[in-house]
Amino acid sequence: MEDCIFCKIASKEIPAKLVYESENVVGFRDINPQAPTHILVVPKKHFASLNELDDISLMGELLNAVKKITKKLEIQEYRTVINTGKSAGQEVFHIHIHILAGRDMKWPPG
Ligand code: AMP
Repeated sequence: MEDCIFCKIASKEIPAKLVYESENVVGFRDINPQAPTHILVVPKKHFASLNELDDISLMGELLNAVKKITKKLEIQEYRTVINTGKSAGQEVFHIHIHILAGRDMKWPPG
């Protein structure tokens, strides 16, 4: 999608620190990390949020990518987050899973 920053990262139009790539999914380091390790996992195809993602197989691929990335980076304890909608904290409207690790997490999240 035009003017979508994560589409541009997925297509390598703009650079990012990639940690994972498969046919349909990329994982890269968050530009403004909120934990010592902060990775974003996104589908290459554009879906604005979880509300628009209707491909069950791709949902599985995204979670599988989380598992592959955490295994590769030797992370065993981590938090995954999907913000859906403005009030939930979503700022980039291309679905992404945050992986946060390397510090103690609070619950409930703010
Ligand atoms: P969210 O608030 O859930 O939409 O998360 C968006 C995340 O994207 C934030 O953590 C940003 O720091 C991150 N972000 C925005 N632009 C970039 C970029 N060019 N490369 C890597 N991460 C980015």
